[in-house]
Amino acid sequence: MATLGIPQNTIEILQKYNFKFQKKFGQNFLIDTHVLEKIIESAGITKDDFVLEIGPGIGTMTQYLCENAREVMAVEIDNNLIPILGETLAAYDNVTVVNEDILKLDIAKVAKEHNDNKPIKVVANLPYYITTPIIMGLFESHVPLESITVMVQKEVADRMQSGPGTKDYGALSLAVQYYSKAEIVANVPPNCFMPRPNVGSAVIRLTCHEKAPVDVDDEKLMFKLIRASFNQRRKTLQNGINNAPDLNFNKEQVVAALDEMGVAPTIRGEALTLEQFAKLSNLLVQQ
Ligand code: SAM
Repeated sequence: MATLGIPQNTIEILQKYNFKFQKKFGQNFLIDTHVLEKIIESAGITKDDFVLEIGPGIGTMTQYLCENAREVMAVEIDNNLIPILGETLAAYDNVTVVNEDILKLDIAKVAKEHNDNKPIKVVANLPYYITTPIIMGLFESHVPLESITVMVQKEVADRMQSGPGTKDYGALSLAVQYYSKAEIVANVPPNCFMPRPNVGSAVIRLTCHEKAPVDVDDEKLMFKLIRASFNQRRKTLQNGINNAPDLNFNKEQVVAALDEMGVAPTIRGEALTLEQFAKLSNLLVQQ
């Protein structure tokens, strides 16, 4: 099978199957071999690895993954792509294509059955409309993960990497930094895809922590506090927490905790670091 990363080969297979792109599935297929090579290299795939690919499309990146990994599972929601994948991946016996919505797949079970419960690598050119639920789902379900190397919208990659006091800083930044070390490894322009997306893209590698960088007694509480403070970005932290329907702390309790941390009572959540959210959560949980 010829490399699909070359535009002519992609066009040929799409025409052969009379494939129609579905916008609702975020279908923008990669047509640039340099970008494909860069993703595989950044993910550090070796013949020891089990790789989960989310949304293989016509199998362009899957071919590279099959060449480099021990085993690949590619999960694709669009039924129309399954026969195409049957042809483009016919030469590989180390790949399983699963016709399923990734948000419904029990990935922890996959890691157990296919990788002895050892950390897996996730590699994908993600469907942008569900980037956050996919990433958060992977982290929060405590799937054993080594790394997640993904193409995302450039703006989302920036949000994942940003720190306190910047406009991009938010709940996603804090979650990504709690679970992993984030590094943008490439910026990718729209002309590397077919059809071209109307946003810039970036490849980001999230190297998952073996141990979280901060000590948190109640992880769920910390993330509720984080969400409460960013849901009401313009409000002070004490108001944000006080107004949150799923939290039961009054302003006095929050101010006392902030005081113990040496932080002004008028502070906004967007100014707090991950360490400070962890500390605040540990102080409030004791009450
Ligand atoms: N990997 C291919 C490439 O790079 O050329 C395709 C990437 S395209 C941006 C995203 C792919 O994810 C599409 O094939 C789309 O059908 C698939 N997809 C969209 N939503 C999905 C879901 N919920 N579960 C699994 N796959 C999904």
